[in-house]
Amino acid sequence: MDLTQLKEELAQIATLGSISAVLNWDQETYMPAGAIDFRSEQLALVSALTHQRHTGPALKKILGQWVDLETGKLLNDQFSSRETALLKEVYRDWKYATALPESFVTEVAKAQAQSQHAWQQAKKANQFSIFEPHLTKMVTLAKQKAAYVNPHIAPYDCLLDEFEPGMTAAVLTPVFERLRQGIVDILKHVQTKPQHPAPWEGKPFDIQKQWDFGIDVLTAMGYDFNRGRQDKSAHPFTTQFHPTDVRITTRFSEQDFMDGLSSTIHEGGHALYEQGVDPSWFGTPLGSANSLGVHESQSRLWENVVGKSKAFWTHFYPKLQAYFPEELDSVSLDSFYTAIHKAKSSFIRVAADEVTYNLHILIRFELEQLMFNTNTPVSALPQIWKEKYTQYLGITPPTDSEGILQDVHWSCGLFGYFPTYTLGNLYSCQLFNQAKKEIPSLEEKIATGQLLPLKEWLNQKVHRIGREKSAQELITSITGEPLSEKAFLAYLSQKYS
Ligand code: ZN
Repeated sequence: MDLTQLKEELAQIATLGSISAVLNWDQETYMPAGAIDFRSEQLALVSALTHQRHTGPALKKILGQWVDLETGKLLNDQFSSRETALLKEVYRDWKYATALPESFVTEVAKAQAQSQHAWQQAKKANQFSIFEPHLTKMVTLAKQKAAYVNPHIAPYDCLLDEFEPGMTAAVLTPVFERLRQGIVDILKHVQTKPQHPAPWEGKPFDIQKQWDFGIDVLTAMGYDFNRGRQDKSAHPFTTQFHPTDVRITTRFSEQDFMDGLSSTIHEGGHALYEQGVDPSWFGTPLGSANSLGVHESQSRLWENVVGKSKAFWTHFYPKLQAYFPEELDSVSLDSFYTAIHKAKSSFIRVAADEVTYNLHILIRFELEQLMFNTNTPVSALPQIWKEKYTQYLGITPPTDSEGILQDVHWSCGLFGYFPTYTLGNLYSCQLFNQAKKEIPSLEEKIATGQLLPLKEWLNQKVHRIGREKSAQELITSITGEPLSEKAFLAYLSQKYS
């Protein structure tokens, strides 16, 4: 089969999309504040052109040669398995892009802008009632969207599917339930131990030195600065224009150097994925990241499983001490390791440690189930939120700003997104366990600063596969087991018990 024409058209569409990404990156890093209105015009124009090209006659004609555009069935059975996967995924993306009537897209965009504004006001005023009608509207619109995209499956599964193709609430629910019980048990144990402040608490850490140490770690991880760069931004992120240009941002605090370092390593993990996809399939599903959950598995694997391990710090701690002799020379590796592994229930998801983090996600997942699968009114959600925090984390948020109003996601209409964070944590441990089996003395290698064998293993097993397999198929094919909470719970127990 000659799929050249298809590849070329998709590469053009992706190139258009990459222009929006450059504009977005600039907006978050260097753009002068006064340019915001014109930047919005630039972005609106480029994304309209990208959407037109994606839904226009050229791609439709090319795709129609191989796929029945009504049903998605392939028109002949001569394709290799990789070609079959490619066509199915291209069709899936095309279906998403063409499923929504233009009037509906406009309505959603308008409602979204109003909802985000109301959410900001509500959070500031600590008053859920300001946001309530907008959240009700966003839920209604999300249900309508699901009906347009795929009326044959449950609306919530359809929303999940957008971020984690093939995933369903029926698969997640039992795994999450066992995960919750496991974490609650570990947390009970952790909270019986005395909590001491870090030995360096109150000492400021020079920002430039933090930056330099972060660059050393990224370099050791194999992040290619010839095909990427790091800058600062308020909210750290990774963006890719092409495998030859994958950029990350980070942020620093003099008072909390682990926050900046964790975010550098986290984004570095995302970036290794994007630098590691197959460039010859640029713009196609075979040259793209698999799913949000798998993407997050790469960032969490580097940030936590590697970046908070004893092996990693055996090599890197003396180097960190060399940057910060006054602050750290009197702190032993063991006390450093203990200090970076504190766990404690807290109200805010983004500030949570690795023991409690997933409980925050599970609560959001359970509330999303209520919104989409039951008639629970939105007005009842703040109280349910508080009850679940009390039940799972043992603390009750005193305000809605520290409770249901803390995250931006629902105000943008992002439902079914939160679970991908937890999936990332679960996959990261499953993948690392397998890497340990396949890479001889992996932990000894990490303890001498050799991070490249792991990076290359991930390149080969995860990054170059793209979307040839679904996330569940990918994890099963690499590890021999489907999605499971076991590896993650074992990892937590080993570290915190
Ligand atoms: Zn991430």
